[in-house]
Amino acid sequence: MSEWLGGRFGNPSGAHASARAARAAVDQAREVLAGALGADPAEVVFTSGGTEADNMAVFGAVRARGGLAVCSAVEHDAVLNPTLASGGTTVPVGPDGIVDLARLESALSDDVAVVSVMLANNETGVVQPLAEVADVVRRRAPRAVVHTDAVQAFCWLDVAGLAASADTVAISGHKFGGPQGVGALLVRGGTKLVPLTLGGGQERERRPGTHNVAGIVGLAAAARAAVETRRQTVQRVSALRDRLADGLLAAVPGAVETGARSDKVAGACHLRFPGVESEELLFLLDAEGIAASAGSACASGATEPSHVLTAMGLTPQEARGAIRFSLGWCSTDADVDAALRVVPRAVARLGVVRA
Ligand code: PLP
Repeated sequence: MSEWLGGRFGNPSGAHASARAARAAVDQAREVLAGALGADPAEVVFTSGGTEADNMAVFGAVRARGGLAVCSAVEHDAVLNPTLASGGTTVPVGPDGIVDLARLESALSDDVAVVSVMLANNETGVVQPLAEVADVVRRRAPRAVVHTDAVQAFCWLDVAGLAASADTVAISGHKFGGPQGVGALLVRGGTKLVPLTLGGGQERERRPGTHNVAGIVGLAAAARAAVETRRQTVQRVSALRDRLADGLLAAVPGAVETGARSDKVAGACHLRFPGVESEELLFLLDAEGIAASAGSACASGATEPSHVLTAMGLTPQEARGAIRFSLGWCSTDADVDAALRVVPRAVARLGVVRA
């Protein structure tokens, strides 16, 4: 990346030598991403991140086809808000956080333009049965685009295989070791989307604007590393996650794990501590160097209980005691040791303060 932030600064849309060099770097990155996503390079559209990629799929499909957007009730706001803003609806999930396929089926008709079901949830880590979702959509709404937000999945799951039935797939660099502010939408050939913005002809007229060359190069480097090391990362991190979750469940009286561990990606550790206000606990944890979050990070500071947890049937009170400890490819044994030392003490301290 530093090469493209420094001396070499060509615009890939230009014609001179430095522009051609930048174009070659973007093309190379496109090939890496295509390989990682099981796509053709022409199907990769670079974006400013997951939010733009999700908006591009939902609004783009609604504008191209006319009709309704439908999504699961546990989507990230980057899908949920465009769906609702275009007059669409949500489909419930069960207590396990998995989309209700019968309710999905009854929400579908020829009037549906796009159906979005995320591959892995950003709060609970629960993985959705995307192939089954796509089967239902093909049967009941054959004109609809099947979109999946794979932003939280790419680090852990074989997105190329699991999202093979989707027409559009969103990813974001900063979720798998890449830079912030860059991502991509895989748009399979034949899928028509109206662009969100108008301008030049970049990205085959699907996403105008000068390319973020350094970001795109970094995105591809991270994608390559994530795919190459995925199997070992999942093995190592799921062992760390299990040690953390089991340790906290044993050390904190009344602690409950959200969702079945077997349904979740390796880095997800989502627990609820009854009687605790998660914002108060996060404050104590932060002071001890533990960075965790309550709902989705984008919603932290908000006092509303997480829409993901209430969709799973938890009461607002239960949802308020929820903490998400996210592990990543860089998490270590020492990180887990620190959390196991600090968290039970902090929860106990809150109990003492309240009493
Ligand atoms: N989708 C999911 C599931 C996410 O977790 C996030 C970010 O946390 C996004 C979309 C938005 O991605 P970005 O922050 O790259 O816009």
